[in-house]
Amino acid sequence: MTSKFNLHPQINNGFTATNPEFTGGTLHCKCQENPVVVKLSSQTAHNHACGCSKCWKPEGALFSQIAVVPSDKLSVEANEDKLYVVDSSAVIKRHACKECGVHMYGRIEDTNHPFYGLDFVHTELSDEKGWTAPSFAAFVSSIIEAGTNPEDMTAIRAQFEELGLPTYDCLSPVLMDAIAFHIYKSKHNK
Ligand SMILES: [Zn+2]
Ligand SMILES: [Zn+2]
Repeated sequence: MTSKFNLHPQINNGFTATNPEFTGGTLHCKCQENPVVVKLSSQTAHNHACGCSKCWKPEGALFSQIAVVPSDKLSVEANEDKLYVVDSSAVIKRHACKECGVHMYGRIEDTNHPFYGLDFVHTELSDEKGWTAPSFAAFVSSIIEAGTNPEDMTAIRAQFEELGLPTYDCLSPVLMDAIAFHIYKSKHNK
């Protein structure tokens, strides 16, 4: 299958299925020398394509691929001094390598946030296979903000559907439900 649009290199031609036995691995940035190494001692969850303008995308890709892991399962193993926070005012503090620009992990520090306790990671930075496969595309319309022609959106959404990935212009229903329930609970002290 040849892709009309470069959605993401790990998604364009189909993707590796989730290995239910998989228990984690290491991510490394793109530096040839002294790469930043991040260890995940857990499988990821909610892997998806993201069209927002803040997630790190590989060169030429319209979308990022991003998943979550519990924050306590993530540790920086090497060259932590090369990391900096891309935008300290953003809810997700994205820790990137100051040399190659790759985002190694995004952390939520606000303890009231629905996703507090989870870190956002790009499993394509790992050589291991078996990470959670992508299951949807989020914030699809947001790629227009980065320059995609609105007229291309129907074909882009169709390309995702063909790969079995439903498209949303926010997060997936499961995650939107989780956010709404968190708000309900915090309002009613549950
Ligand atoms: Zn780097
Ligand atoms: Zn994003």
